[in-house]
Amino acid sequence: MELFEQTAASLAADIKSKKVSAKEVTDALLARIDAHDKNIGAFTCIDAEGARAQAAEIDSRIAKGESVGALAGVPVAIKDNIHVTGMPTTCSSKIMKPFVPPYDAFVTKKMREAGAVFLGKTNLDEFAMGSSTENSALQITHNPHDFERVPGGSSGGSAAAVAAGFSPLALGSDTGGSIRAPASFCGCVGLKPTYGVVSRYGLVAFGSSLDQIGPFGRTVEDTALLLSVIAGHDPKDSTSRAEPVDGLNAPLNPSAKGLKIGLPKEYFETDGLSDEVRNSVLAAVDALKSEGAQVQEVSLPMIKYAVPTYYIVATAEASSNLARYDGVHYGSRAEGTDNIIDLFSKTREEGFGPEVKRRIMLGTYVLSAGYYDAYYLRALKVRTRIAQDFDKAFEQVDVIASPVAPDTAFKLGELINDPLAMYLSDIYTISTNLASVPGISVPCGTDSKGMPVGLQLMGRRFEDARLLSTAAAYERLSGWNGKIASL
Ligand code: GLN
Repeated sequence: MELFEQTAASLAADIKSKKVSAKEVTDALLARIDAHDKNIGAFTCIDAEGARAQAAEIDSRIAKGESVGALAGVPVAIKDNIHVTGMPTTCSSKIMKPFVPPYDAFVTKKMREAGAVFLGKTNLDEFAMGSSTENSALQITHNPHDFERVPGGSSGGSAAAVAAGFSPLALGSDTGGSIRAPASFCGCVGLKPTYGVVSRYGLVAFGSSLDQIGPFGRTVEDTALLLSVIAGHDPKDSTSRAEPVDGLNAPLNPSAKGLKIGLPKEYFETDGLSDEVRNSVLAAVDALKSEGAQVQEVSLPMIKYAVPTYYIVATAEASSNLARYDGVHYGSRAEGTDNIIDLFSKTREEGFGPEVKRRIMLGTYVLSAGYYDAYYLRALKVRTRIAQDFDKAFEQVDVIASPVAPDTAFKLGELINDPLAMYLSDIYTISTNLASVPGISVPCGTDSKGMPVGLQLMGRRFEDARLLSTAAAYERLSGWNGKIASL
């Protein structure tokens, strides 16, 4: 097996036991990126020199017999809205261009302490707004399984990097599906943890009450490994959970025996769900049933309002979070203006792309006097009702299974001029963010075009470990085995 095909868990073990050096692993992955990323466009920045230096340091610590962390020598890729000291954070936006953070995000600090080797930053939809990574102001990212198709979004660069064998692990952020959707389109595993499990410190904010950082891996075991490193209380994030989350450091228990799985009837009744996706997901659930799970229908009646609710809450928060990019406090500054108002508006006019502007306008509108009660406040109430639907369903079942997206990866350019159609592609993922529950996407086969399909599993708040174990139980049955796209 080539080094780029190995999982993070096996690389970590081999590096620790000196079967292979961190330097060899880093070189192998950099060579693979060098050979193929020109066709994929996963990375916005590659720090070959820095990665080699980190790998050399790990090797010398191992040679001296010093203890090293769980990710010692394991290469990782980071979505370019999460800070890594010394690497530019672009958010794939023109407005962020000159920003090089002098500090690590909580998650990247944890990964550094665990010995991870940072290969570089990955492409995203500008400020994580989108479902295809086409809203990036920097570059297009292609799906490694079919270069004509999108990798999904907004963490498309991270998913593509993992699926292409550029990095065994990556980080993404998920506000409405941005980890799970690209994981399903690219055929890898992606987890959105329960809100509060992972600190948001050092993640550029989009919708703060919805945003969560989470791991990508080619196997559930690797995904769980990365989560165990990045989870934990952070006093710098007031929404970070103070109590430890059960089971995150324990080995996975890949068993479906006695597990109660719910199939939300509304999810399977939506227009636009492809038959192939439906059949793959139902076959995956059947496989879990044959392993001893009980399956029953559940109902989430308020889910029909999830998309409009999300696009009010997320845009309201975005309009507030993005107000800081004014050319004075943060971001690039427009030239040739002679008063402060022109400076603000020209900076924002030049710096933001069309989707970001659309969301700032929508968010400002729903928060404005006279509309606040009619839209924003009402959306918050509906959000609570959606969360209550989940709570009720989780009184009957342990895990809810569904598709991740109505269809597999679409063609580049297919939906980019139809924002509403693009928004609807998140129909199955955004409600977990609204309800603050965890969700994972795990590969469950391919469609007739050869494109990967994702099975989404959702769980009770802070039962992330159970979700991972269930995903692992299915993974064993699926035969997918951490498949890499053949390039
Ligand atoms: N696609 C959704 C959006 O455009 C979700 C994005 C995300 O999760 N960051 O807002």
